[in-house]
Amino acid sequence: MASSASPAELVVENVAKEYATPAEPLRVLNGVSFSLRRGENLAILGPSGSGKSTLLSILGTLEPPTSGRVTLAREDPFQLDEAELAEYRRENIGFVFQEHHLLPQCTVLENVLVPFLADGAAAPEDQHRAAELLGRVGLAERLAHRPAELSGGERQRVAIARALVREPTLLLADEPTGNLDRTTAGSIGKLLLELQAERNAILVVVTHSETLAGMLHKRMELDAGRLVAVA
Ligand code: ADP
Ligand code: MG
Repeated sequence: MASSASPAELVVENVAKEYATPAEPLRVLNGVSFSLRRGENLAILGPSGSGKSTLLSILGTLEPPTSGRVTLAREDPFQLDEAELAEYRRENIGFVFQEHHLLPQCTVLENVLVPFLADGAAAPEDQHRAAELLGRVGLAERLAHRPAELSGGERQRVAIARALVREPTLLLADEPTGNLDRTTAGSIGKLLLELQAERNAILVVVTHSETLAGMLHKRMELDAGRLVAVA
């Protein structure tokens, strides 16, 4: 369990991100620093265009920072080569997006098994774990359904199961309740937090929902490229 004595697992140090433009570079992040221990969670707020998705992409190793450093369990993933980094990402990081990004032609169970396909077919124990996790998110009766046969909230439950099936240390969610009605959003937020706590994972959630942000341990806001604490 997380305790004040345990070392920070995710350490973000002075991260800056610039995008090249025809004019001068666009500086989106400008000295972002924070750290989280296992079991902790953080809400990131801020207006549209403030760099929230950019920051999550860097935490998720999809984009390198222009400068600064990110380490997870003291390892700097940006030192890895491309193939190692892809493997690192599959093993350590789970993503949930505003859009569920499920494969429409695949069943619910097959969608949750997608993270295993890079290693070849999913092993029987992986299939067992996926089915168990789908039970945990309330979809035990839906394993053979296609995404089109589910409600928005159910699709997002599948996306959460897919993000967690390889037991990542770091779970990243970008406006995970943005497309859902308020009641469904509340239950999805609660589910994310329960699963994170059960796994002692680190959770970073970008959200516009004050209700969801209010359920997390810490709240920070992106303001002019910096991450500042909010009340
Ligand atoms: P948010 O998620 O807070 O709405 P983003 O991180 O998506 O913000 O974007 C922050 C800023 O960076 C925006 O001005 C956006 O246009 C710009 N941006 C994002 N991705 C790229 C990119 N790949 N190339 C150039 N500019 C980008
Ligand atoms: Mg965004």
